Amino acid sequence: MRQKFLFTKTRKEIGAEEKSLNASLLIKAGFIDKLAAGVYIYLPLGLRVLRKIEDIIREEMNRIGGQEILMPAMTPKEIWQKTDRWDAFDALFKFKGYDEKEYALGATHEEVVTPLLKKFVFSYRDLPKYVYQIQTKFRNEQRAKAGLLRGREFSMKDLYSFHADEKDLENYYEMVQAAYFKIFARLGLDKLTHLTFASGGAFAKYSHEFQTLSENGEDLIYICPKCRLAYNKEIINEIEKCHGCKLGKSEFKEAKAIETGNIFKLGTRFSSSFEFKYVDERGKEKDVFMGCYGIGSSRIMGSIVEVYNDKKGILWPKTIAPCQIHLLSIGENKALAKKTELLYNELIKKGFEVLYDDRDESAGIKLNDADLLGLPLRLVLSEKTLKNNSIELKSRNLDRIELIKIDKIVKYLEDSLNK
Ligand SMILES: [Zn+2]
Repeated sequence: MRQKFLFTKTRKEIGAEEKSLNASLLIKAGFIDKLAAGVYIYLPLGLRVLRKIEDIIREEMNRIGGQEILMPAMTPKEIWQKTDRWDAFDALFKFKGYDEKEYALGATHEEVVTPLLKKFVFSYRDLPKYVYQIQTKFRNEQRAKAGLLRGREFSMKDLYSFHADEKDLENYYEMVQAAYFKIFARLGLDKLTHLTFASGGAFAKYSHEFQTLSENGEDLIYICPKCRLAYNKEIINEIEKCHGCKLGKSEFKEAKAIETGNIFKLGTRFSSSFEFKYVDERGKEKDVFMGCYGIGSSRIMGSIVEVYNDKKGILWPKTIAPCQIHLLSIGENKALAKKTELLYNELIKKGFEVLYDDRDESAGIKLNDADLLGLPLRLVLSEKTLKNNSIELKSRNLDRIELIKIDKIVKYLEDSLNK
């Protein structure tokens, strides 16, 4: 990807109304732009990051049997009335069609997916089933000042599972927990993310949140230092000892965190509203048990920026960086331009993702922009390095600069990016 052709630019100053660290950095670097409070445009480099996050989530959902669908954002009032959530769900965006028919923009999709599955599941032989989507969701948030951490429009994966009994639901619930930890590991967030007990709703005593530690997080959690389990502020009062290792709660450590995922056992809460039943081995009608599992893809993008940054800009983990390599040519010499062009083409041919800064800009601007954009590896070819037939290589997260011979660089990159 040639930087000259990008229609976006980095920005020094952005509006003072953008208070959050994540959105400020993402706007300055040209990854997103703000349309309204809690509503953002994903620009070419930002969309690449979001899609990579979504692809990691998609792969892990497919691995545990998830089947991807896409449900509509526009949902009719009647389905919300069936579950008594038209009035009870206070963050729904509601509007009217031409015929006075009322709709809500989907904030969650139990009301769509439950009657959908009812059309296909009749007997115990049809269960279990796992259905998910990665979709734009809407919530009428009162406060939307935290950038991508709390959007009015945001991207999210929601998975719904359907089971013949509670035991089967519980087994799958554990599988999803494990899949979520794989996702957080691939995103570089596993060491910062805690499985957190939260209040459970009508069916189960507890639900679980995945809370990612961050100074700007809006949630307070209490972490058991021995086994890493954590407890949400709302439930902490009922707890005496850690559920995992029995350590007393006086030892727990308070921390600020961002809720990046949550999982719920819904039991028969929604299947009963839609009279969704199946016939068991003995010919008896029974309620279907359900679970739902959310993970906020755009919120994760904001969380990663919150935790991986320094005063110069963002530090993307290599799994989700828009490109792994930022190639800069510094100087105006023709031989240098030719050499950089050759190297760019060679790297592309080898399958590397390269952002090539071929703009007519000064060294200072190019180097500052590279730090702000935060790609994992920076390569600089200049008249000085060319004299030694070398190229300068720097990892965004290290101060050290290495000089590598140009004919060794491909091998070197292959080794360091596969580590
Ligand atoms: Zn513990």
